[in-house]
Amino acid sequence: MFELPPLLLALAFILVGLSTWFLGRRNSAARTVRLPRDYYVGLEHLINDRFDHAAEIFARMAEADDDAVEIQFALGSLFRRRGEVDRAIAIHSRLRDQGAGPLREKAAYALALDYQGAGLMDRAERVLEELSTSREYRRLALDGLLAIHEAQGDWAKALKVYNDLPQPVQQERARVAAHYLCELAEQALLQGDAERARTLLRQARTHATDLPRADILAARLAERGGDLQAALPLYLRALETTPGLALEVVPAVLDIARRIHRDDVLPELGRRLADGGELSPRQLAWLLATAVPPEEIARLPGVTAELADGAGGAADAGTLGALLTRIGDAGGRYQCAECGLNSVGWFWRCPKCRAWDSLRPAVFKWAGRTDHALHPY
Ligand SMILES: [Zn+2]
Repeated sequence: MFELPPLLLALAFILVGLSTWFLGRRNSAARTVRLPRDYYVGLEHLINDRFDHAAEIFARMAEADDDAVEIQFALGSLFRRRGEVDRAIAIHSRLRDQGAGPLREKAAYALALDYQGAGLMDRAERVLEELSTSREYRRLALDGLLAIHEAQGDWAKALKVYNDLPQPVQQERARVAAHYLCELAEQALLQGDAERARTLLRQARTHATDLPRADILAARLAERGGDLQAALPLYLRALETTPGLALEVVPAVLDIARRIHRDDVLPELGRRLADGGELSPRQLAWLLATAVPPEEIARLPGVTAELADGAGGAADAGTLGALLTRIGDAGGRYQCAECGLNSVGWFWRCPKCRAWDSLRPAVFKWAGRTDHALHPY
């Protein structure tokens, strides 16, 4: 299929549309000659990058023909995308107040997007809540509400909306619901309400069985209750399912090992991470080099050899570990697998693209390079 450049295609649409429209008006049958609806919809998609010209033409058309509802919608969304949210809100409010049935709902949804664009989240929330009773806009409204509640960290509300989603969608997003419950458990933990935290974690596990986040929180609960013996296997299980958590979890594991005088924990940790089979020996070694203090690394013989190899045989393992840590602290220990965001701190949900469980230790990538030299940038 041949493709016209978008601008050319947009101009062609505009020309065809305008000539039809003017012809219609000159024949004094302006109200009977209507442009095909696709014209407007197609135009709306096509002119994404030609805001100034398109807005001018649309404004003129809408002015001349007040009933041209589709033009007004196109104009409204154009204003929103240009950042002129006030004008978009004015257009969509009028359409909502004047329209009936489906038109009113369409305008309400556009208005919710305007409010979101303007950062008026409480207003967006109100409009979307009203729309959630609509047959046609229910799913869009629920998704919009979820986005708002997630962005505001209102996990209780997010969970409530999740429960309103159709069953198949709920199953698809079960892990996200588990995260909501873990967020709530974390809050309960902060407030010192261990019992509530425990209940929420139990609920989280009903949505997803392997849940390292729930393991870590349960381990912290056990630690807080003084039960270090119970905390240890929970931390280890979290690491086994998600080795990428090493930087967050290994210090806690080593701390417990010290306090309960167990020498075998570090080697066991290395074994468990290796047994997962997810990591190459180099990835494992470099991960541990950043997560385990240099003086302890020496107790992991295989890792030491791999590290010496990575450092070109010249430097010792501790030096490589220190170097990796320094690079991580400067440029980000983690990277989002979805959007590439670099981050020094750990997030269960990427702050940029908002994907859950998408952060990976940056050393995985560096260690995966074939040249074996340490050039992370
Ligand atoms: Zn991301």
